[in-house]
Amino acid sequence: ELILAFETSCDETSVAVVENGEKILANVVATQIKSHKRFGGVVPEVASRHHIEQITLCLQDALAEAAVTYEELDAVAVTYGPGLVGALLVGVAAAKAVAFAHNLPLIPVNHMAGHIYAARFVTPLEFPAMALLVSGGHTELVYLPEPNRYEIVGETRDDAAGEAYDKIGRVLGLSYPAGKEIDALAHAGKDSFKFPRAMLHEENYDFSFSGLKSAFINTVHHAQQVGEELNKNDLAASFQQSVIDVLVAKTIRALHAFPVKQLILAGGVAANRGLRQALAQRLTRLDEVEFVKAPLTLCGDNAAMIGAAGYVAWKNDVRAQLDLNAEPSLEFPWVKGALK
Ligand code: ATP
Ligand code: MG
Ligand code: FE
Repeated sequence: ELILAFETSCDETSVAVVENGEKILANVVATQIKSHKRFGGVVPEVASRHHIEQITLCLQDALAEAAVTYEELDAVAVTYGPGLVGALLVGVAAAKAVAFAHNLPLIPVNHMAGHIYAARFVTPLEFPAMALLVSGGHTELVYLPEPNRYEIVGETRDDAAGEAYDKIGRVLGLSYPAGKEIDALAHAGKDSFKFPRAMLHEENYDFSFSGLKSAFINTVHHAQQVGEELNKNDLAASFQQSVIDVLVAKTIRALHAFPVKQLILAGGVAANRGLRQALAQRLTRLDEVEFVKAPLTLCGDNAAMIGAAGYVAWKNDVRAQLDLNAEPSLEFPWVKGALK
């Protein structure tokens, strides 16, 4: 069964064709990063305009690359939230047009469920599962009791991990998005600054990165004022170690409270080498939990992951009508008995 999937929640226009929710026939991604770099972040109006320019081209390329015709498709999946409303609407309108013209079922997909399902291209998901979702806009632990159910266990109280990377990157003079470069610098440095690890010992599964960000910025500004040269590699390593320590500790805490078969690491920050290594190391001590990492090439936004999550939603009778709207603040429900 073939699903055509659309993703336009932020700054990547992407269209994919996915077979049986597990095999990528095409995954075309047109990134707008170059256009946003000079502003140091994503400008919503610029994003919408690019999506409009790119969506038809991506659709044509995806069908051509997959060597699939509209007649062969079985369903259309689309990200309808969370994200930038004007960006989401482009994908939603395109998906509705194809679904209407070719009389196909329309499947609404939560972007964060998509990120989790990037892991499906590595191995089938086994339930119950836990996902550590770390991206540009989200940092959350999500419990999956069964297919197509997603429940928040804990989340960031302020900045997302990726957002913190991008903000401190600016202070280091790096261009947006800075996560990948900071990861590389960190590997050449050591944790010598000992930045704070917020909420590390609190009895919950929540995170906070704004204090770390402020501590980092204050350290750099102070050094600039007194004319001291700080080692960029060590700064990056110290920041990264602080992020990793908290992410790993809270994840392990959640795994003790919610026994699962798999831990899924997903979202843009899941590409982080240090985080992948640290989690793998800690999980060897919980050997009943399988560690599943989203493939490096599918950690960032793409439509293939939407096709995989959409397939599961479709099989669970999730459908949208042609009045489907974008939901910029779409969120998973909280798990029952959560420590809020
Ligand atoms: P959301 O998915 O929450 O809506 P988003 O789609 O903008 O947000 P993603 O595309 O999933 O976020 O991830 C982008 C983020 O990942 C950026 O903040 C970027 O800096 C970060 N990132 C990418 N690679 C790495 C890395 N190796 N280490 C740390 N962060 C990284
Ligand atoms: Mg992006
Ligand atoms: Fe994303």
